[in-house]
Amino acid sequence: MTWRKQLQVRPGADFRLADVDTGGTPGWKKSRKSEAEERLHENVAALAGLEYKLYAENRRALLVVLQGMDASGKDGLVRTVFSGLNPQGCRVTSFKAPSVEELAHDFLWRIHKALPPQGGIGVFNRSHYEDVLVVRVHDLAPKAVWKARYATINDFERLLTESGVTVLKFFLHIGRNEQKRRLLARLDDPNRNWKASEADFVERARWNDYMKAYQDALTRCSTPCAPWYVIPSDHKWYRSLAVSEILRETMEEMRLKFPPPLADIAALRRKIK
Ligand code: AMP
Ligand code: MG
Repeated sequence: MTWRKQLQVRPGADFRLADVDTGGTPGWKKSRKSEAEERLHENVAALAGLEYKLYAENRRALLVVLQGMDASGKDGLVRTVFSGLNPQGCRVTSFKAPSVEELAHDFLWRIHKALPPQGGIGVFNRSHYEDVLVVRVHDLAPKAVWKARYATINDFERLLTESGVTVLKFFLHIGRNEQKRRLLARLDDPNRNWKASEADFVERARWNDYMKAYQDALTRCSTPCAPWYVIPSDHKWYRSLAVSEILRETMEEMRLKFPPPLADIAALRRKIK
């Protein structure tokens, strides 16, 4: 089975987030962890080559959406999987609580501005999904407002795919105990103290509400053109491997090719002095 098939929330199918084992490593034996690290390096190198072709072709784009609870590994994933890419063709945007200006617009305004242009890769560290997650959990908007957003998001993502943007959405799924371990590590390690924030502990207290909100976002917005992938993320090596495999599979399937030369290469060769 391909990585995509295995980890995808199948559109329209019965899916229960609660059934996913966050410590699982589907498709890869835990005893083969060191080989997973080698494979990850191979994938990172392959992605660099694919990115180069995407950039040269200059027609299509790739959007990678990362969601997950605090300490689920979104930042770590950006470092490990996207580290080999050429910064010229890739842009990472981290979405925080909206500014006053952003709040004065519709919720997709800031998202639209951050989309990758043709030839580019955009990585969203958090995304428009916060508007049906944190907003729902903390009642930041009336229910009627956030409920209408699932359909708006599906329409928006369809617009993107119709415009040549391949949309990949990853939910980095950690267990509650694993989150506790990682948050405590931030308190214990002086080099990680800077990452500790009061907000993480406030959000953690609402764990079950978040899982309900994720359950709905994952099922309502996993569409054939923009499916969700749920990545068991208690093991960092597996999380990075799985995401890199899905990225590689997807980009290979795009059949990216260098465009034909614009110039008459033979004539240019004759001309050069
Ligand atoms: P971090 O990713 O740890 O830097 O935290 C960013 C914070 O911004 C998280 O607590 C998010 O829930 C919050 N955030 C992101 N988007 C929104 C949004 N649309 N509305 C409210 N809070 C948001
Ligand atoms: Mg955080």
